[in-house]
Amino acid sequence: MPFEPAGLTDPIGRRITYLRLSILESCNLRCTYCRPGEDAGVAALPPAMEVGEIVRLATLFVSLGVRKVRLTGGEPTLHAGLVAIVHALAALEPRPPLLALTTNGVLLPRLARPLAEAGLSQVNVSLDATTRESFRAMTGRDRLDAVRSGIDAALAAGFSRVKINAVILAGQNEDQVVPLALLARDLPVDVRFIEYMPMPGVSARPEKHLSAAEIERRLAEQFTLEETPKEIDAGPARMVSVRGFQGRIGLISPFSVKFCSDCNRLRVTARGALRLCLLGGGEADLLGPIRRGLSDEELAGIVREALRGKAEQHPFESAREAVLPCATPMWAVGG
Ligand code: SAM
Repeated sequence: MPFEPAGLTDPIGRRITYLRLSILESCNLRCTYCRPGEDAGVAALPPAMEVGEIVRLATLFVSLGVRKVRLTGGEPTLHAGLVAIVHALAALEPRPPLLALTTNGVLLPRLARPLAEAGLSQVNVSLDATTRESFRAMTGRDRLDAVRSGIDAALAAGFSRVKINAVILAGQNEDQVVPLALLARDLPVDVRFIEYMPMPGVSARPEKHLSAAEIERRLAEQFTLEETPKEIDAGPARMVSVRGFQGRIGLISPFSVKFCSDCNRLRVTARGALRLCLLGGGEADLLGPIRRGLSDEELAGIVREALRGKAEQHPFESAREAVLPCATPMWAVGG
């Protein structure tokens, strides 16, 4: 009999419909809060997973009820097989309604169109600064022009949505809050501010955390913010609108306003490990079992068993006090 799995539900009844799949650890930027410095050794590493393994994992989760797959990294556009992966996922039956990508945008000028043609539906571009100096200070690279062209290319390619995600660090790019928000006036994009999470590693600086409430206060000094009704499947951002803006502004605050009760997501790291929560919990290896030849049914069993351990909520109330005790850094989990 063919394997016909039921959906995934965790012990407190949350249905899992969203997979964030990291496809490699390498990155072409060196953001101060994520992965500063040169670490050329890591950057040069080939992806740990083959295209076929990435597609097999995504296919497994889609068969288990996942409706949205987001490819991330590292920097996913550095994976030579990215377009082929999107193509394969768009050809699945049933086709996942949302195929999304999170990218720093540097390579989007040449990849946006092929990705759209392959079936990618949404793109999130991470951008923390609108001036050349601030961009270089945040990312260690002089690539702002490429990212701005990448956003234009994404808008021209016809994705159903293009979003910009920004991280603001206290004392570093605070002056960028308003200029970044203005991108939602000038372009048909939502701009979302995500609270900095002091993850482990050299980059962890709890004192750099700036709360979403503080970012909102800065925005409210400049603009009249209007609450927008929550959309179905809206995700964790609280969205507000500003009259005359083409896009909306979002605030994502994993600490001050926890959204764990609505969590519908699982993650797979670039090394093929299932991760239940960005901010904690263990990992369950899936790549090893794939390479040992386990069937889809057996892999689904590993996922279901691990899911029993998904915590009701992450244990942190504040990010200003401590480095979060997570074993895997952000660039390996994929954000
Ligand atoms: N390279 C891609 C990109 O830049 O979007 C995908 C991977 S990156 C790890 C995904 C997101 O995580 C980015 O928006 C980045 O700003 C965010 N990020 C990384 N470290 C973070 C941290 N410590 N706190 C909050 N967001 C972080």
